[in-house]
Amino acid sequence: MKILVTGGLGFIGSHTVVELLNLGHEVVIVDNLVNSKIEVLDKIEKITKIRPKFYQINLLNKEDLRKVFGENNFDSVIHFAGLKAVGESIEKPLEYYDNNLTGTLNLLKCMRESEVKKLVFSSSACVYGFPKSNPIDESAPCNKATNPYGMTKCFIEQILKDMYASDNSWDFTILRYFNPVGAHSSGLIGEDPNGIPNNLMPYILRVAEGKSEKLKIFGNDYETEDGTCIRDFIHVVDLARGHVKAIEHMTSENGGLHIYNLGTGKGTSVLELVNTFNNVNGDLVKFEFGDRRPGDVPVNFAKTDKAREELGFACEKTIEDMCKDSWNFSKHKK
Ligand code: NAD
Ligand code: UDP
Repeated sequence: MKILVTGGLGFIGSHTVVELLNLGHEVVIVDNLVNSKIEVLDKIEKITKIRPKFYQINLLNKEDLRKVFGENNFDSVIHFAGLKAVGESIEKPLEYYDNNLTGTLNLLKCMRESEVKKLVFSSSACVYGFPKSNPIDESAPCNKATNPYGMTKCFIEQILKDMYASDNSWDFTILRYFNPVGAHSSGLIGEDPNGIPNNLMPYILRVAEGKSEKLKIFGNDYETEDGTCIRDFIHVVDLARGHVKAIEHMTSENGGLHIYNLGTGKGTSVLELVNTFNNVNGDLVKFEFGDRRPGDVPVNFAKTDKAREELGFACEKTIEDMCKDSWNFSKHKK
């Protein structure tokens, strides 16, 4: 298949590109490098021995995007490109709505003009907001995000549902990711955020690298076994494989609009993750307990049956793998 990957030099996009290339798919990447580096293209080539075609283009520029569609005959699109920092989205809601919504609308318009009608979209477990119970299944109430970033995911999901209702020749697969961590086993690609990170694993790595003194664990008075929040951490290579399964599932028999959780189905506490990181990598991360972070969901993990039954997708990597591979990438980066 010839696949357009927007945001393909980012964290999840780059790992997905590697998996697609390894399976013989042809990939074209569009990315404006707002949160990634051009060197990732060399790293993808080093891992796969293939250099995908790359366009440095902002999705907000529809004319540029239209040219990409004019020059290529795509079978499908995987759409990762978007801004993703929760805190920044609260400070700059307009920029987030513009980038994520306008970028997606431009993409959908170009797809419609070129009659490319298969799209896999990166959504997030944050659409569930504060879930009533766990594990969370795909039919749980959504449209519940607690910040502008998360709301961009809710709105885009709704746009895709409305488009499908108006024209069922579209094939849309919405993937709701839980908490992606880890890195490629080569240590060449991984998560390399700009600025000071606010997600847990990038912050753990920052402490391990000696750039920050201590990790602050936000809250140890939750109603969980060790008092810290619980998340469903998923290795980015498993997540990337989930995209391959999703795109390969979009055949004529399986057309339509589908929504899948991508997680392991297993909850791990913040403290467990930090302790595992220290166990497998040496005691690199000092931590202290602090106040709860406003807006944090106490417990969040996926029901994974639908992805397993319909896509044949199951995670293979352990929390230990996630911690080892994340640190291996950080060490190479230094
Ligand atoms: P990332 O920031 O590493 O990758 C996104 C890429 O998109 C970057 O390379 C960035 O330069 C590019 N981009 C952003 N806006 C663009 C624009 N207007 N035009 C062209 N390129 C643009 O993020 P990621 O972690 O790889 O996430 C990929 C997708 O998955 C995002 O949509 C994100 O919201 C979603 N997601 C991520 C997580 C997570 O924890 N990482 C969880 C749930 C959902
Ligand atoms: N967390 C923490 N210290 C940090 C960053 C995150 O204790 O420096 C906690 C956070 O409170 C949450 C969990 O780690 O309970 C996962 O946070 P992240 O922002 O990575 O993901 P999300 O909350 O969006 O699932």
